[in-house]
Amino acid sequence: MRSTLLPIAILVSIVVALPSLATVNEKSLQNAQQLRELALRSHLGFDIVESLTVEVGPRLAGTAADARGVAWAEKKFDELGFDKVYKQPVKVRHWERGAASAQILSPFPQPLAITALGDSVSTPKDGLVGELAFFDSVAELNNANPKDVAGKIVYIDARMHRHLEGKEYSTTVAGRSIGSSVASEKGAIGLIIRSVGTDKSRMPHTGNMRYKKGVTKIPAGAISTSDAMMLMAMKKRGQAIKVNMRLDTTTFEPTTSYNVIGEITGSTYPDEYILIGAHLDSWDEGTGALDDGAGVGITVAAAKLIKQFKPKRTIRVVLFANEEGGLIGAKEYRDANASELHKIKLAGESDFGARSIWRFDSQVNPANLPLMSQIAKTLKPLSINQGDNKAGGGPDVSILPAKGVPVFSLRQDGTDYFDYHHTANDTLDKIDPAQLRQNVAAWAVVAYLAAESEQKLLPLIKK
Ligand SMILES: [Zn+2]
Repeated sequence: MRSTLLPIAILVSIVVALPSLATVNEKSLQNAQQLRELALRSHLGFDIVESLTVEVGPRLAGTAADARGVAWAEKKFDELGFDKVYKQPVKVRHWERGAASAQILSPFPQPLAITALGDSVSTPKDGLVGELAFFDSVAELNNANPKDVAGKIVYIDARMHRHLEGKEYSTTVAGRSIGSSVASEKGAIGLIIRSVGTDKSRMPHTGNMRYKKGVTKIPAGAISTSDAMMLMAMKKRGQAIKVNMRLDTTTFEPTTSYNVIGEITGSTYPDEYILIGAHLDSWDEGTGALDDGAGVGITVAAAKLIKQFKPKRTIRVVLFANEEGGLIGAKEYRDANASELHKIKLAGESDFGARSIWRFDSQVNPANLPLMSQIAKTLKPLSINQGDNKAGGGPDVSILPAKGVPVFSLRQDGTDYFDYHHTANDTLDKIDPAQLRQNVAAWAVVAYLAAESEQKLLPLIKK
């Protein structure tokens, strides 16, 4: 008997000892499960995106609509009963779009659906006429002989395919972001790109671009993927193709926008923050429902739902200004809070549309991996699997790990995200309320359990 009892005694003592090793206590865990089920029944996330897209609509940084977006966010945080609501000024560019049109003049005249890239200069009033010089990528343009480009309008036909993880965006986007500078340096008079998108539609995709310092600024636009296909078929006919492109844009003086911040104050560690957020600005073609109204709805709703469970650490929701202009609000946030970044114990941004989350990744100190596993376990009923410890955290928080701030990513299905991204088609009807609720539930679980951690949340180890 003795020999069988002893192992049982050891086992019992281990089990009794377990609570002291727990990453969160039993009550917190029960709350997290309750919170998850509550979020799955809550319509709040969708209501918030609807409110933003109906009452504000498109909100390009620096515009009057952006200012209305800031006022909307402050009011929304107040209405929802956040404990602390404030904003932080951010210097942003102010650029506005006018009309855009383009036609093939020869050999087979017909119109093209086009939009100006953000920050592009205008063409002359009557348009810019030129022969197209064709390239598959910026890399190919880089290697081109200036003789083949000078005096022409460069056309870049970089293609992108649908993918769960939206993988090809980062490699395809170069034509949009730096194509005009490379073309200009070789003497081109304008740039047209195939839209950086995965749809088959006549909706062109806008997006950010920048002129290199000192370069002659040439107008830059994107044509729809449908027109890109037609254009490439026309090229096969072997004749020079001449187009007229008219882009009407205005660049104003830089102005001030704001990061808008709402907090649910922690009951035990009010000075320790779990930062979740999204970006408040959007492109001007659609209503910014997917990019990034969804992220606003998801994170604001998650924090609001957490409030009733009185989290130990503070939940800080940051709605970043001018992400689309190049993480401008995020950089201001990082710099203005430089001496306090160590108080952010975990951070994440939702900025990849509104489809279901399928994976939870982290980038935390190895000592906190048991907490991540506990979070992953609580996410499991939402059909979310635990991934790796190499999370980026989302665009605006991706600059925080370099400062030691741990981050997480709740990765969404991005299969059709780039069908709508930066187009007039980025509208509320693309959001499936059930999938949005799954997002809210997941964000609520991660933020709440991190706020309840019994373990100290440590900074990242410097590489
Ligand atoms: Zn975005």
